[in-house]
Amino acid sequence: MTTTECRLREEMARLCRSLFERGFSVGSAGNVSVRLPDGTLVTPTNARLGEVDPYSIAKIGPDGKHLYGGRPTKEVFLHQAFYDTRPEAGAVVHLHSTWATALSCMADTDPEDCIPPLTPYVVMRVGTVKMVPYVKPGDPRLGEMIRALNGKYAAILLANHGPVVTGKDLQSAVNAAEELEESAKLLVALRGVPTRLLSGENVAELKTTFGTM
Ligand code: ZN
Repeated sequence: MTTTECRLREEMARLCRSLFERGFSVGSAGNVSVRLPDGTLVTPTNARLGEVDPYSIAKIGPDGKHLYGGRPTKEVFLHQAFYDTRPEAGAVVHLHSTWATALSCMADTDPEDCIPPLTPYVVMRVGTVKMVPYVKPGDPRLGEMIRALNGKYAAILLANHGPVVTGKDLQSAVNAAEELEESAKLLVALRGVPTRLLSGENVAELKTTFGTM
């Protein structure tokens, strides 16, 4: 095991605990992964994110084969579908966080653009969020639906389930997952209130200045 891998295992455990302690994950919900040059580190199955032992984190090879560490989460295929279609993704965070999950259950959420441009931060850190239709947990069709998006989105919502968010590295993916959760909370808080969104011009300016997700 390289020093980089050891460092990443420690960082994963620390950030998973931080997400758990702040209520972004409860029980054994949620899973996190990081891409390495020779495979992927994935949180173990049925793990509570607040109690992940860095050395229980699973290592899987580029072919998806389990190499060592604990057994990977059963939702590993969500992560793999992103890594296979989004070369710039260095990490994936999947949560069942309350507000983003609420948004994934609301009948009038636009599946093509779940979070309108409320603030510059959601535009810069998350980008357009697409919703993929509900299938039962563990159904491999979910992986196929993510692959069919061809890596176009850094973040998606799984209908009636929760968000899956990528970033260039672990800290960026965690930041984006937190931004998505807070934006979903704002959106629910503003329901029924006349709301001023950023204009198309504001969004274009952000994309020119900071790039797109
Ligand atoms: Zn899930």
